[in-house]
Amino acid sequence: MSARILDGTKIAAEIRAEVAARAKTLASAGLRPGLAVVLVGHNPASEVYVRGKVKSSQEVGLYSEQHTPADTATTDELLALIADLNRRDEIDGILVQLPLPPHVESKRVLLAVDPAKDVDGFHPMNVGYLSTQRPGLVPCTPAGVMEVLKRSGIAVAGQEAVVIGRSDIVGKPVAMLLLNDNATVTVCHSKTRDLPAVCRRADILVAAIGRPGMVTRDYVKPGATVIDVGINKVTERAEFDRFFSGNKKREESFLTKGSTLVGDVHPEVAEVAGAITPVPGGIGPLTIAMLMSNTVKAAILRRGSDFRDD
Ligand code: NAP
Repeated sequence: MSARILDGTKIAAEIRAEVAARAKTLASAGLRPGLAVVLVGHNPASEVYVRGKVKSSQEVGLYSEQHTPADTATTDELLALIADLNRRDEIDGILVQLPLPPHVESKRVLLAVDPAKDVDGFHPMNVGYLSTQRPGLVPCTPAGVMEVLKRSGIAVAGQEAVVIGRSDIVGKPVAMLLLNDNATVTVCHSKTRDLPAVCRRADILVAAIGRPGMVTRDYVKPGATVIDVGINKVTERAEFDRFFSGNKKREESFLTKGSTLVGDVHPEVAEVAGAITPVPGGIGPLTIAMLMSNTVKAAILRRGSDFRDD
């Protein structure tokens, strides 16, 4: 048996098209949602992510601006920038790209973002809204996981869901979203006993661990849906062979680029699972799409009921 592949790239494109249509309607009513991205210093990976976010904002018709303080910026300078963005009405979403330089008090900076503009959904106020099922801003990657399930017609209510990972940005919010949608949820972590046996209970297994290919076929109940949030870079030939031996297409790309991506789920799991998200092209593309969606949502939530359609 070979699993159905859940195409995150296609789902993300659908969401971006819906956001673009919504942004157009809002613009004709005089509201142009705006996103401010704050990138401190010159982290090459962060620069790539931020470019993607700004480009995507433009494509869906949002207003966007980028702030690039030097890596010598102090906590106080960043707090002043956030305070200014909080005050400006045309800014609906504020995203502080992590990691911040080590001398900056990251938590203070993130806490300073107005919860109503916290499009990353990390502010404790939004975490509280999520756990009490009130309208708020939900972290982008977990929201993307739920969109993939929903748009792929995979039932959540009443299902056994197992989440591996309990980080504030992925594991915990995914678990809370699954619980809010009436799954029976188990959250696993590095101290969980007999992890494969716990995972084999899952109808829906979510891996958010940060360990390349850790979830092998013995973790998976035949026919289960497997959502792989992990993004890990493989550069060593031996590691490549462990995951992709015999995969000619991957090998060509690995030899050309010198690296490839693997999730937290071993590719062999596709032979056991009923449905699975690939890496790349699974959950990854959803993160930016949900950021766009959150910016529009923030604009609507902030500016009252005039623009709401729910
Ligand atoms: P994280 O903060 O490092 O959390 C990892 C979690 O995995 C922790 O809860 C940890 O348990 C658990 N864990 C680690 N080793 C384990 C083991 N051997 N057995 C069981 N649990 C184990 O990572 P994260 O930020 O949540 O990210 C997880 C993965 O998702 C990474 O690969 C990251 O690159 C990827 N990611 C992707 C996107 C996207 O856009 N698709 C977005 C964000 C993250 P403890 O709590 O006990 O330490």
